[in-house]
Amino acid sequence: MILRVTQYGEPILREVGKPITEFDEALAELANDMVDTMYDEEGIGLAAQQVDRALQICVLDVRPPEGMEVPFEYSLDGKKPPLELIMPMAIINPKVTIIDQVEDVYEEGCLSFPGVNGKVDRPVGVRCEYQDTEGNNHIVEADGLLGRCILHEVDHLNGKLFIDLMDKRDLKKNEAKIKKLKRASRDFLKGK
Ligand code: ZN
Repeated sequence: MILRVTQYGEPILREVGKPITEFDEALAELANDMVDTMYDEEGIGLAAQQVDRALQICVLDVRPPEGMEVPFEYSLDGKKPPLELIMPMAIINPKVTIIDQVEDVYEEGCLSFPGVNGKVDRPVGVRCEYQDTEGNNHIVEADGLLGRCILHEVDHLNGKLFIDLMDKRDLKKNEAKIKKLKRASRDFLKGK
């Protein structure tokens, strides 16, 4: 099922997600719905706050288009399974450690900020301990787009947004669009 994506200005996006303790059918269904919604919106990641739930779960799929080389390094539980086997990925109760402090800059977007793009500095290397929808523990290590996507989504789970880290000049360029989103959300919440 496709869910509505919350927009900047809705308070849920600033909420810290609660840890997930029940690994039941409802959780598997939520993860599936989040993946469907992410694909429908043509995104590469989606966090629970973006479907109006303050929970520690996000989904992502950073597979490159068919025939293209994978532009990042990664491992899952110390192995390197093909991306086809691990994507889409649901990450639950993540704990992130930075394993390479070197920062890299890249233009990011976010499904809760349609039309807004800007440069964001993030560390290159990430280790993320997490659980899957059945409650099994895993460790993913990644750089490049996968590392960046994990950091962007885990920020959402902690109520942090990419505009908090955006290059100041790019933020200024997007100011009018961001204000407009905020106004639209205020009207939406009033009508609710
Ligand atoms: Zn986002």
